[in-house]
Amino acid sequence: MKQIAIIGSGPAGCYLADCLLRLMPDASIDIFERLPVPFGLVRYGVAPDHQGTKAVARVLDRVLSRDRVSFFGNVEVGRDLKLEELMLLYDAVALATGAARDRRLNIAGEELPGVLGSGAFTGWYNGHPDSHPLAIQGVRSAVVIGNGNVAIDVARILAKSATELAGSDLSPEVTAWLETQPIESIHVVGRRSAADAKFTPHELAELGTLQRACPMVQDSTALAGNNGIVETLRSFAQNKSRRASVMIYFHFNLTPIAFLGNGRLSAVQFRSADGALSEIPAQLAITCIGYETRPCCTATPANGVFANEEGKIKDRLYVVGWAKRGPSGTIPTNRTEAQQVAQKIAEEVPDRVRPGRTGVLPLLAQRQICWTDYAAWRRIDAAEVARAGDGRCREKFTAVTKMLEAAQVGQSLSCPSATA
Ligand SMILES: Cc1cc2nc3c(=O)[nH]c(=O)nc-3n(C[C@H](O)[C@H](O)[C@H](O)COP(=O)(O)OP(=O)(O)OC[C@H]3O[C@@H](n4cnc5c(N)ncnc54)[C@H](O)[C@@H]3O)c2cc1C
Repeated sequence: MKQIAIIGSGPAGCYLADCLLRLMPDASIDIFERLPVPFGLVRYGVAPDHQGTKAVARVLDRVLSRDRVSFFGNVEVGRDLKLEELMLLYDAVALATGAARDRRLNIAGEELPGVLGSGAFTGWYNGHPDSHPLAIQGVRSAVVIGNGNVAIDVARILAKSATELAGSDLSPEVTAWLETQPIESIHVVGRRSAADAKFTPHELAELGTLQRACPMVQDSTALAGNNGIVETLRSFAQNKSRRASVMIYFHFNLTPIAFLGNGRLSAVQFRSADGALSEIPAQLAITCIGYETRPCCTATPANGVFANEEGKIKDRLYVVGWAKRGPSGTIPTNRTEAQQVAQKIAEEVPDRVRPGRTGVLPLLAQRQICWTDYAAWRRIDAAEVARAGDGRCREKFTAVTKMLEAAQVGQSLSCPSATA
């Protein structure tokens, strides 16, 4: 059996495992994930009101359930195991660690309370264990900086009524926060022109269907060009005389210059193409300008990704997904790309007998790492669905300790302390 380790259980890691199962009938695959639960941004990025998209988790789950795949949740490479140890124990190692760090604008006032990166904000509304409760209150105006689908997700979640959010997996705390903000306006601001925006027309058009919100473009001269996005924005420009309790304004060709405020955000300052300065009052600003990959032990990213040649970093070390190409494309993009990298791994991995799992298990036991296997993850999954009250499809555990309790790892062999 060839022994393959994959670090990260998001779409890229799971699709890679799936492709390797097909291409290498003699491979055994271990997936290491820093959280007790799998699926990366499918669980913690994709918007909670888009359960149809989140349903791809069922496809990924089938991969984890396969005989030749083992899931090691709550095992962070860098904290619990070293990349170098995995390189010694496995015939090939693939980094599928995503791009979890928010890119920064590096402008004045970015540290003010009320200014957040989209990773922090979407992680919070998706219940990521690393996220912090939102301390800001009294949001009447929000500025969303960026012209991609994440900016649309953020604007939509802020704009939707409680009825529209019913059936999602937003936590009661997040729902309560959203319901208590006196939000009146959301400004989606792009540095470039409308024709350059990276929204997908479908996601953009959804904003025109919301119950209590109305999208609008005040400056129709910004709508030069001819593509699906500009057409949809032109239809929004016709909403000028409409009034709704929440207005979503689109602005283009504005570069953010500074976040202003005394002790908390009060406005965002922009410069337009002709050099004129303007301000948009705001109590909340969310920057949706992309993400960078974090280092993983001795593997250090350059320009936000791990340098690679078609997925190969060096002999026996590979990379897939956002850690390979940066934050672009959709979930299926990761599948196409995983296929190519799996092909490379299948062709290149030498016939050499390394111990794989039998070498890793004693290390985890020695270090008293309490890890979740596939069955443990399914227990967490079942507990989250069972505890969801009326009006939501799931109530996630937001603390690792609660996940481990629900996983009952203390009663299984995967937790050394259970037998200590
Ligand atoms: C806010 C947001 C919304 C999105 N919405 C959509 C959408 O609606 N539709 C769509 O098609 N795409 C969407 N995407 C894009 C999609 O989520 C990505 O294409 C996809 O998740 C990238 O997969 P990945 O496996 O490379 O990274 P990730 O999904 O980030 O997975 C990486 C995994 O690696 C784990 N990890 C990281 N470091 C370590 C370590 N050292 N040790 C062990 N584990 C580690 C992480 O915990 C994580 O589980 C969205 C992205 C974001 C940010």
